[in-house]
Amino acid sequence: MKQLIRNLKIALVMLLIFSLALGAGLVYQQQQSQTTLLAVAGENKAALRQRYAQAGQILSRDGVVLASSENGERVYAEDLTLQRSLSQLVGDYTHHMSNTIETQYQSELLGNQRNVMEQFLLDVTGRGLQGSDIHLTIHALLNEFVYEQMKNRTGSAVLLNYKTGEILAMVSTPATTMANIVAYKDIPDTALFNRSLNGRYAPGSTFKIMTSAAWLSSGKFDPAYTLECNGDPVRANGARDRGHGTVNLDTAFTLSCNVFFGEATVKVGAKNFYDYLVNAGLGRLNSLDRLSVSPARYQNSAAADDRALLSWFGTGQPVGDLVLNITPLELALMSGAVANGGNLVEPHVVRYINNPLNQKREEAQTTVAGRMFSPQVATRLQQMMLEAVASGDSIQTNARIEGLDVGGKSGTVEIGTGSKQTINALWTGFLADPEHPYAVAVVVENASGTNTTAVAIGGQILKEAARYEGG
Ligand SMILES: [Zn+2]
Repeated sequence: MKQLIRNLKIALVMLLIFSLALGAGLVYQQQQSQTTLLAVAGENKAALRQRYAQAGQILSRDGVVLASSENGERVYAEDLTLQRSLSQLVGDYTHHMSNTIETQYQSELLGNQRNVMEQFLLDVTGRGLQGSDIHLTIHALLNEFVYEQMKNRTGSAVLLNYKTGEILAMVSTPATTMANIVAYKDIPDTALFNRSLNGRYAPGSTFKIMTSAAWLSSGKFDPAYTLECNGDPVRANGARDRGHGTVNLDTAFTLSCNVFFGEATVKVGAKNFYDYLVNAGLGRLNSLDRLSVSPARYQNSAAADDRALLSWFGTGQPVGDLVLNITPLELALMSGAVANGGNLVEPHVVRYINNPLNQKREEAQTTVAGRMFSPQVATRLQQMMLEAVASGDSIQTNARIEGLDVGGKSGTVEIGTGSKQTINALWTGFLADPEHPYAVAVVVENASGTNTTAVAIGGQILKEAARYEGG
C-alpha cells in the first residue's frame, strides 16, 4: 500500500511538472509574440506605462531607490541631481534610450520571463505579478559627487573597483531629468548618449601606458635606452613635442615625451605593437552585464612602412589613416589592470537581481577576463604611474591626495582644425590602496589648452571614494 501511494505521489508530481512546463511554454510564447508586437508598434507609451505598473525597483548599493513603480506610475530618484547623474544608465520606461537597465532588464523588472518553478512559487504566495528588483553596483552618493564635478562640462567619468570589477560611479554629461526624457522635450544635444560605455575617444598620452607595456615586453627592449629630446621629430613629420632634454623610460613617462614614445614604438614595430594590443585584450570588452559597450578600436597597418606615422601611434594620436580610440570604461579598466597585477577583471554594474521572494539571481561574480599585462610589466607600470603623479616634474600634481598613493597618466587630444579646433582632456589613474582598490577615467571635451581639468576631477573622485568603506 505504502509503495502504491508513493508511486501515485511520484506520478502526480511528474504530471504537475509536465503541465507546468507546458503552461510555461505557452506563456513564454505569448510573451515573446507580445514583445515582438510591441516592438513593431514602436512600444507606445500608454502600453509601457501599463506594463511597468508593478515593475520592480532599481536600487543603488547604498540603498537609494533609483526607479520604482508607485500607484501605477514609474518614478525615478527623488533627488534631481542624482537622477540626472544616472539618467543614461538607469534609463526610462518609455525606452527612448535602449542601452539601459530599464530597457535591457525589462523582463526582470516586469517579471515576465521567469522559469516555471519560480513563477509557480510566486503565484502561490500571491506575488506572481510583481517584478524583480535590480540592485546596482553604483554608489549613489559617489555618483552624485562625480556628476557635480562634471555637470558644467561635456564628457564622462567612470570609477570602478579593479579587484571586483564593480562600477561605483559612471557619469556622462550633458544629462537631463527623467521627466524630460519621458516627455522627450528640452533634451540637450547628445544628453541621451552614454559616453562612458559608447563614447569612443582618441586616448592621447594615456595610451603611453600601452606603449610602455609593449616596449617593456618587446624583444627590442633596452632598459638603458635614452634619447635627447629637443622637441623636433626624429623622423620628418613624426611625433614631436616641446622638448624635454635627456629622457629614459621613467622620465619620458612622467614628462609625457612624445619623441621618446614615438621612437620606442618604431623599435617595437607596427605588427608587433598591434599583436601586443590584441594579446593584451584591448577591445575585447563589448558588454557590461546586459548592456552593450563599444570596444576599443585600433589599427596601425597604415604605418607598416611609414615610421613617422608609426611614431604618432605610440603617442596615442590617431593621425592620418591610423585608427585608435577607446571608451572611458575601458580606459578605467586599463589602469585597473595595472594596479591589479596585470589582471583585467570583467566589469559589472548589476550586483544582483532579487525576486519578490527575496531570491537572488545573476549575482556579480569576480571574473578575471584576461591578463592584460604580465605581473612584471604591471609592477613596472605601477611604479611609473605612481612616480608620474608624485614627481616634482609632474604635470599631474592636481591628482595628488595627501596620505594616499595615486598613480596616473594624463592625455590631451586636439580635435578638428583651425578655428574649430578644440581639446579633449583625459586622465586615468588608480589608488594603490588595498582598502580602496579603485581606478578612474575622466574625459573632458572642449577643455582648455593644458590638462588640469581632467587630472583634477580624477583626483577629486579618488579622494572622495577613499572616504567610504571599501568593498
Ligand atoms: Zn620630449
